[in-house]
Amino acid sequence: MQWLSVLKVQALDLLFPPQCCGCGKTGMILCASCADALMRIPPQCFVCHAWVPPVKDAPPGRTCPRCRSHSAVYAFLSPFAYQHAMRELVHSLKYRRNRQIAVLFADMLASHLAAMQVVFPKDAILIPVPLHKARERERGFNQSFLIAKILGEKLGIEVRRDVLKKIKKTAPQMELTREQRLKNLHGTFAIHNPLPIQGENVILIDDVKTTGATLEEAARILKKAGAKHIWATTVAH
Ligand SMILES: [Zn+2]
Ligand SMILES: [Zn+2]
Repeated sequence: MQWLSVLKVQALDLLFPPQCCGCGKTGMILCASCADALMRIPPQCFVCHAWVPPVKDAPPGRTCPRCRSHSAVYAFLSPFAYQHAMRELVHSLKYRRNRQIAVLFADMLASHLAAMQVVFPKDAILIPVPLHKARERERGFNQSFLIAKILGEKLGIEVRRDVLKKIKKTAPQMELTREQRLKNLHGTFAIHNPLPIQGENVILIDDVKTTGATLEEAARILKKAGAKHIWATTVAH
């Protein structure tokens, strides 16, 4: 009964009007001035963060020549710095289950891709970075899947959840080196269905890139299973 859920949302909006994640002003989840104040980051190499403008035959954020031999990520697209209001938005989506934020994030990503004139290869597949089953049950949803679903509809790209699974829970590992992190993450993901990605381009999507190790490990295993290029996209990093 869809009208019931619409009524529920409207009733909840009356009882708890949305508040700006940046300044607390009521009326919307991100007000115009806090949206303007978000820090935008020009396209960077996934590994070394060198600025990578678009060049002929290569997209913006293409992994730089020096880093290509030790990364499975083909190009990285992530418009915002993970700070201030952006941090609050991500927390509100994940821990206060404010799903409206997934809609906002998909809009932000779509307009960033349009502004950067990024055209994903034909027949590319969007794959959200999976959560461990227990974690998803606990949270009630996978925020990356929510964003992927809306972005996929906007761009006309198929979203698949059956390809990549997370089979091992991971602990935060900020204090480790890149090599240690990657080693620790071995065995975290498994390929459940390799068929859809054979020779295809994959766009891995997550809410935030922190150390990049999770995305790198997911990209590595997807590539090993037969995917062509692995693009990584996050709202913030
Ligand atoms: Zn605000
Ligand atoms: Zn680099």
